[in-house]
Order: sequence, then C-alpha cells, then structure tokens
Amino acid sequence: MEDVRIAIIGAGMAGLTSALSLQKNGFKPIVYELAPELGEVGAGLTISPNSTLGLEYVGLADGLSKRANIPLSQAIMHYQTGEILVETERGDLPKQKYGAHYYQIHRADLHEMLSDAAQANDPDCMVLDHAFTNYRKTDDGIEITFANGNTVPCDVVIGADGIRSAVRESMFGPEDPKFTGNVAYRGLVNKGDLSNDVVTPASGVAIAPRKAFTRYLVRDGEVINFVAFVRRDGWNEEGWSIPATTEELLEEFGDWHPRIRALIEAAPKDKVFKWALYDRDPLEQWTKDRVTLLGDAAHPMLPFMGMGAAMGIEDGVVLGRAFAAADSIDNALERYEAARKERANFVLLRSRVARDRLQSDNPEQYDDSKHKNEESLGLFDYNPGTVPV
Ligand SMILES: Cc1cc2nc3c(=O)[nH]c(=O)nc-3n(C[C@H](O)[C@H](O)[C@H](O)COP(=O)(O)OP(=O)(O)OC[C@H]3O[C@@H](n4cnc5c(N)ncnc54)[C@H](O)[C@@H]3O)c2cc1C
Repeated sequence: MEDVRIAIIGAGMAGLTSALSLQKNGFKPIVYELAPELGEVGAGLTISPNSTLGLEYVGLADGLSKRANIPLSQAIMHYQTGEILVETERGDLPKQKYGAHYYQIHRADLHEMLSDAAQANDPDCMVLDHAFTNYRKTDDGIEITFANGNTVPCDVVIGADGIRSAVRESMFGPEDPKFTGNVAYRGLVNKGDLSNDVVTPASGVAIAPRKAFTRYLVRDGEVINFVAFVRRDGWNEEGWSIPATTEELLEEFGDWHPRIRALIEAAPKDKVFKWALYDRDPLEQWTKDRVTLLGDAAHPMLPFMGMGAAMGIEDGVVLGRAFAAADSIDNALERYEAARKERANFVLLRSRVARDRLQSDNPEQYDDSKHKNEESLGLFDYNPGTVPV
C-alpha cells in the first residue's frame, strides 16, 4: 500500500493536513495547487480542542503553542449595552477536559506551519500552478488533467479543493453552492491603536437581530481579528478579498456599542473585506471511482460554529489513518468515509442552526441554556488521531 500514488487536489488546511497525516503513515502524496504561490488569505481562525488534537497528531503541537493564542474566556455580549450575557471559561480548562487547548490563530500562520511541515517531510510533495480540471479512469488507475494541459497518472485522487470543488463537479456533475443570505466583513486592527477596554474581554461575540460581530486576538495578542455578519439578500459575491469600506460597516453597525464602533473606525481602510456566505446540503456519498472529497469540497458550512476548518483537519487526519489501516485503496476510502461522513454532515446542518443563535431576535432575553453550541453538542470531545477507522 505504501507505493500507492495519491494525488491531493488543493493546498488549503484540509489538503495539507491530509498530506501530513498520509506522510506520517508512510505514504508519499503529491499536492496539486492552482495558485502559483503557497499562501492563505483571510484573518483569524478558532482551533477548538478536536482540531488541536488533529494538528498535534500531524506534528504541530510546538508550532501551535508558539504561534496561537489561548483565550481565557469567550463572551457573548449585547450589541448595544455591551453587557456580558454569557462568559465561558477557556484558558487551561479545555486541556483538562478534552486533552487539548482551545486556540485562536491567524490563518496565514497555521497555513504556513502546515505547508512547511509537509515540505520538510518531502520537499517534492507540492506542485503549484496546477488547476485540476477533470479525471478519467485508465487501465492502471486514474489520469488527472490540469488547466495548463499537464496530465498526471495516479491511483487515487483526494479532492480538497474547497467549496467550488472542481473534483466534486467532475465526480457528480455541476451543482452550485447555495447563497445563505449572509454577508461577512472582516478586518484586522493593531491592538496598540486602541485603548485596552475596547477588547475586554479579549474574545467575544456581540449579538443582535440579524447581525453578529465577533472579535478575538491573534499574533501574540497584538492584532485584533474581527468578523461582522449581516443577513442580506441581493449581494452575493464570493471570495475572501473583495474590498469593503469602514463607512459601509458603520452603516450596519453605527448604533452598536462604542467599543464595536471604535474597532471598526480603527480598521485600516485598505484592510476591510467582505464576502457572501455559501454552503451546500449534505452529500450522501463522498467517494466514487477511487476519488474522494474532504474539507469544504465535501461539506462547506456556515462559520457560526467555527468548525469548517476543524472538520477538514479531522478529515485529513482520519484519511491518513484509514490508508494505514487498510489493505486496499477501496478499503481505505470506505474506512475514511464511514468514519467521517456522519459527523461532518451533522456539523454542517448544525452550523445553520448556530446562525440563528448568534443573530438573536431578542438579545435581551438570550438564555444560553436554551441553545446547543459546539461544546454542548459534544463536538470538542473527539480525537481524530484515535477514533476508530
Ligand atoms: C468568516 C469565516 C470564519 C471562519 N472561521 C473558522 C474558524 O474559526 N474555525 C474553523 O475551523 N473554520 C472556520 N471557517 C471555515 C474554514 O475557513 C474553511 O472551512 C476552511 O478554510 C476550508 O479548508 P479547505 O482546505 O477545505 O478549503 P480551502 O481553504 O478553500 O482550500 C482549497 C484549496 O484548493 C485550491 N484549489 C481550488 N480549486 C482548485 C483546483 N481546481 N485545482 C487545484 N487547487 C484548487 C485553493 O486555491 C485552495 O488552496 C471560517 C470560514 C469563514 C467564511
């Protein structure tokens, strides 16, 4: 099995984690990425304990402890009064309860750690500037075609090419993701540009009817990452780097608590972006023709539980373990899909419910005991490095 030729399409969080897990288990996957350079756009990322355990499995324990932040708590706040409605302890508690920390990190930092680690294991594992277009079955496996005209033979294809997955389309035909009626804005602000009380408590989400505003610290606590969510019909452009203006944000959040307004006003004008949020309905079958899907390609979800990358990281870890446990490619893919599909599809559906929790019609009456969140749903209590495959 170690000689099996594994092609991973997409060098995002999910593709890179699967590369690392396969490498750890003795395989030599090749990752094909459409971008001419490796990198990650976007801002912050929450790494819940289940995700931390996955990243630790692939060797990133030290990197995380050096480059990620551990919030002491997470608060839900009223959008106008700033009153703390609920505060959940983090700090060392997740480590005691689940065996791993709850972290917050800049996406680019995590992406760099993953890609550096994969290339340290195998300097030839990454092929850039290769946009997958389709595959076909051949007598001795699969042939992949890329937009630049190159073709590559392999035995198995792992589609980790994100929400608009070309691999998924070539397996199951075209089907557009669904616009969810939500738009998100993101920005990064230097903490030094603000008075301390603006980010007290350091990690929190303010909730309002049809809107929410979340913010937390990254990069040694020096930078504040914020994401603001607004329900909106009509505008539905995708992409992580569409410029927005602070004026636009102030139109939406102008009557919010002064601390939120101060954060928006301090955002560098050229560093505010917006994008429309899409997801897809759960997919019943992830694997066909020795081609399988993982990460957003398999289960793109709304970000209201902060679990999208976590699910891709879990997928990646389990995929490597499934190959190690199997005696054939088909058996590996069966083990992978059986171990992962139910959980990832459940999280996808619950992420829709979480939107309504955080865009509360009546924030004054918010009662956390009436809601299920990612922790009370039991999602933290999962170790992709040890679950049965
Ligand atoms: C506002 C927001 C906040 C979020 N916050 C969190 C959070 O706190 N915690 C969390 O766990 N998740 C979070 N998520 C979700 C998370 O960002 C995604 O689920 C995750 O990035 C998906 O990773 P991926 O590797 O599957 O896909 P992607 O990150 O989309 O990577 C896909 C890769 O494939 C490449 N590619 C695409 N097409 C091709 C092709 N044809 N050929 C070759 N390569 C291709 C792309 O260039 C890219 O490198 C958030 C999402 C949003 C929108």
